[in-house]
Amino acid sequence: MSRAGTIDGPRFAMAREVVTGALAIEDLPRLAEMGCQAATLQYAVRGGEDADGRAALAVEVSGQLRLTCQRCLGALEFPLAATSVLELADSQAEIDAADDERDRVLASKSMDVAAIVEDEAILALPMVPLHASCETAVAHAGRKEASPFAALAGLQESGASPPDPRRKSNT
Ligand SMILES: [Zn+2]
Repeated sequence: MSRAGTIDGPRFAMAREVVTGALAIEDLPRLAEMGCQAATLQYAVRGGEDADGRAALAVEVSGQLRLTCQRCLGALEFPLAATSVLELADSQAEIDAADDERDRVLASKSMDVAAIVEDEAILALPMVPLHASCETAVAHAGRKEASPFAALAGLQESGASPPDPRRKSNT
């Protein structure tokens, strides 16, 4: 079980409890399996009721995921922000039988918070992660790597040899 812990779903919703925290890739095994290299996610899970007055969890996830671009295989920083309301269902049969657009989750006395958060993050992922423009992404990376050298060049310039008097006299 992850360090985010578990909640007693129905009780949590009835008491309108709130749990917040942060997760890293170590807490998100399914995302890691999908090729996510790093993650910094903040979450808030709030207990309450949905529009129909049924027990529900409001899940908010935001942060950054490092995915792998499927074109150039470079790192792709993906900002994630997702919010949804999950109605607590008493059984899987109830979830399967539902024919509306509502999101449901199987209620239990021991619901894994990290798994709920991970589900939301997975739903928000692009089908195929791709840079908008791979070349631009590579160029950006190149510029970042070049900056220490640019700074070094600047240092060398500032320590340049004193002006050559001969050049002045020549002009
Ligand atoms: Zn790319």
